[in-house]
Amino acid sequence: MKYPAVRNFLGGTFKADTLPSIEVWDPSNGTPISRVPLSTMTEVARAVDVAQDASPGWASTPIKERVQVFYRYKTLLERHLDELTTLVTEENGKIESEARAEVLKSVELTEFACSLPQITAGEVLEVSRGVECRVERFPIGVVAAITPFNFPNMVPNWSLPNAIALGNCMILKPSELVPLSAGRIAELLTEAGLPNGVFQVVHGGKEVVEAICDHPGIAGISFVGSTKVGKIVYRRGTTNLKRVLALGGAKNHLIVMPDADLEMASSNIVASMSGCAGQRCMAASVMVAVAKTDHIIERMVAQAKAMVPGRDIGPVISAAAKERILGYIAEAEAAGAKILVDGRGMTVPGHENGFYLGPTIIDHVTPDMRIAQEEVFGPVLAIVRASNVDEAIAVENASPYGNAASVFTESGGTARQVMERARAGMVGVNVGVPVPREPFSFGGWNESKFGVGDITGRGSIEFWTQSKKMTTKWNREAGVNWMS
Ligand code: NAD
Repeated sequence: MKYPAVRNFLGGTFKADTLPSIEVWDPSNGTPISRVPLSTMTEVARAVDVAQDASPGWASTPIKERVQVFYRYKTLLERHLDELTTLVTEENGKIESEARAEVLKSVELTEFACSLPQITAGEVLEVSRGVECRVERFPIGVVAAITPFNFPNMVPNWSLPNAIALGNCMILKPSELVPLSAGRIAELLTEAGLPNGVFQVVHGGKEVVEAICDHPGIAGISFVGSTKVGKIVYRRGTTNLKRVLALGGAKNHLIVMPDADLEMASSNIVASMSGCAGQRCMAASVMVAVAKTDHIIERMVAQAKAMVPGRDIGPVISAAAKERILGYIAEAEAAGAKILVDGRGMTVPGHENGFYLGPTIIDHVTPDMRIAQEEVFGPVLAIVRASNVDEAIAVENASPYGNAASVFTESGGTARQVMERARAGMVGVNVGVPVPREPFSFGGWNESKFGVGDITGRGSIEFWTQSKKMTTKWNREAGVNWMS
């Protein structure tokens, strides 16, 4: 195999446990490149013990010292950009430019963590004569992050720099489909000077996730993945009295008005539906085409047809994912939808066993079809027709999800209407992938997020800390009154 078997990272070293393991695949070739262990509650318990030992020392290290590790980690991410990019392309399949952008986003996330001392300074006020109230933030203790397959480098970095810089010890459970980047992240954090036990990696699947939800030594969990599993983790974790922030799946609607700028709209929409082979929680999934928008659709069709799988679009993650996506396309076709661009049956020379699908655009999809309602998570865009913006907003708001929505228009009034009325946590105007950049926070609404707060930016500070309210009096003259 190209890579040695993946190991858990506990207490600053990789452990050669004898655990059952499964293969890790390169989706662009359909070949195994490594093996990943399926850990159990025993490995989770070990990691918690180690983290609990490391926790008091790390929590009491001043935040200005803690972030020095992340200044160095940022430099290491930049220094190893090529290598980290390659790891992502090999385990996830996305093309080089997409993998590079993912690692660069991790750099930006780390920059934000470095700024935390500046924005988490406490509050203090003399509340009555000689009596002072102050509020300080404290870490919550040992925490865990459970991550999905689609961003092996970036999504772990949504949680880990902020959680750790704020004084917590973190256990990461990466997706068993893409476990390689996590090991390299652990090495780089160690090289950056992070004390042993502050960041650990326990590999595996469902059993590890359940053990994380159940272990009384874990105080908080961030989860990113499908809505189905997000609900399981949220329910199980909160039942065990932990704080949980669970980001789930998505069904993002792009509303396209007839006055939209032709080039800006068509290129942004095609990039959004096809980027990362449609496997982004922010990917365009449904285009709601309002009135006369055929000229935009025609341009999109030309752009999508010009894309070359293997060069402009990577494979989907697995043979099973490809089958699932093909099922949605076939069902929509059978129900009367019109396939304008058909990505089925594509092969990439030299990668005949890769899990490739070309961009697929399907017109005249009706809101009752499964392809219009469920998350497809592939390079497929369903076009639903609407006659006005109210109808379009109603289509978007009928979705149980609420991650992202966008509108393409030249009218400020129409844009404002959609921004206000779309029931989604992240809204774009003439932007296909409205991901907020740091310091703004990332997080959806409805069935795309369970829990309070957001996973990145300022929104994450409340989640990863608890506030202590302190009232002090030192001078006798202050006396005693009804409050103090
Ligand atoms: P997934 O839900 O299958 O897996 C996520 C994590 O949960 C993995 O670590 C996996 O090992 C674990 N897991 C899987 N099944 C489990 C079970 N039955 N019980 C306990 N744990 C389980 O998600 P995925 O397929 O890896 O990722 C794709 C999904 O993630 C899509 O739905 C996508 O929209 C979503 N996603 C959402 C966001 C967001 O910000 N909202 C970001 C990225 C991905």
